[in-house]
Amino acid sequence: MQTNEICWSCKGPLNEGFFCPTCGTLRRPFALSPFKFFALPFAFNLNLNTLEERYLDLQKQFHPDKFVTKTSQEQMNALSWGGFLNDSYNKLKKPVERACLLLAEQGIHDVLEEKPTPDMMMKQFELREQLEESEQLDDLLIEVQDDIANLESGLVESFDSSNFEKAKKQTLELQFLSKFTRDIKRKMRQLKTN
Ligand SMILES: [Zn+2]
Repeated sequence: MQTNEICWSCKGPLNEGFFCPTCGTLRRPFALSPFKFFALPFAFNLNLNTLEERYLDLQKQFHPDKFVTKTSQEQMNALSWGGFLNDSYNKLKKPVERACLLLAEQGIHDVLEEKPTPDMMMKQFELREQLEESEQLDDLLIEVQDDIANLESGLVESFDSSNFEKAKKQTLELQFLSKFTRDIKRKMRQLKTN
């Protein structure tokens, strides 16, 4: 977090907190990694209970009700922080987006825009074919969910060992399989209603 800035309200020096240590007003939003915002380690293997707890705690800190008697600037700051909170929470919760955030920390951007490797394309083609041809999708769903679980533990390893090239490929694959899971479930619902 930036520490060389001054408070917009009293011009006093700021520390690493969200509130000015001198006058107690809420700071304007500043660039911050969602991991730092939630005081979580930069790791793929995230404790979702801790994330949830900190989310509720931060939600209280930035709740609009706490700022009704404050200046409009501070109310606006609270709304911006609240928006950043929800956005960060939703990203960290989703494995694909969490992986993208970690890769971005390494200067690796636009991972989801990359083209799949020929191997991945072949596998994706086969899966789509199975989805189209089969009316018994339970087994396919279980298979894909197993693959997702394996990819997620693979991502933990890749990030732990700083193998970001591998993490990039796994993230791309995970993105495909997450979407594909939704496609399977959609078709299962359609088959039920027909
Ligand atoms: Zn101040």
